Amino acid sequence: MSRETQAELRKRVESILALLASTYPEAHCELQFRNPLELLIATVLSAQCTDKQVNIVTADLFEKYKTPSDYAGADPDVLEQDLRRIGLFRNKARNIRAACQALLDHHAGEVPRTLAELVALDGVGRKTANVVLGNAFGIEEGVVVDTHVARLTSRLGISRETDPVKIESRWMTLVPRDRWSILSHWLIWHGRRRCGARAPDCAGCEIRHLCPSAKDASGVPAPGVKVSRSKTKPEPRGPGKPVRRRSAADPGPGI
Ligand code: SF4
Repeated sequence: MSRETQAELRKRVESILALLASTYPEAHCELQFRNPLELLIATVLSAQCTDKQVNIVTADLFEKYKTPSDYAGADPDVLEQDLRRIGLFRNKARNIRAACQALLDHHAGEVPRTLAELVALDGVGRKTANVVLGNAFGIEEGVVVDTHVARLTSRLGISRETDPVKIESRWMTLVPRDRWSILSHWLIWHGRRRCGARAPDCAGCEIRHLCPSAKDASGVPAPGVKVSRSKTKPEPRGPGKPVRRRSAADPGPGI
């Protein structure tokens, strides 16, 4: 099997994105929010939790807590109770209170608009920061890599890396900056609707002819694109700020 050249890979990626764009013209962040603070809170809550569950909890939460002061000044036990239907709610409650106190202390109560300032907040890693920048402010700072993006990246033969930061860098070298935000939405929507972790619907997949992992109904690899899984030559990082490794506070899955 011949190894896919960078030019061939770029052409395949373009074709994949064009098809995903036409398949999901309405793709968007599925967390519900009305302002940057609500998106910040929702994204912190979404780590290792489904958007659907986060939206259920935030429907009430956002009516009760409207400003950073509301969170920072909340009784810790009360806020924990308000978040109890979210996984890791104690850690998340603590991080949200601390992050909101930092917004009051250092950002005049506003959500900052830079990656460096966002990742300095408790509970906020690069993924959360990219979600907020891209969806609340329209700032293309990076590519959100959650569990769906990581899975699609591997199945599509884009990268064998498992480190979200390396996956993000790979996409940043392949896709123009003005599409970094929508790229993650397309991949997340496809991961949720077609290319699930356990049972990908390859037979109905719109990009199966471009996917080296496509299988027929009996699980046999389908004819189509063949991509060597040899490691491709690393490319220089795309533009961006210094990265912070993921931590328990921002492990990846979610949004
Ligand atoms: S062909 Fe199958 S593995 Fe490839 S993207 Fe589609 S659903 Fe996922």
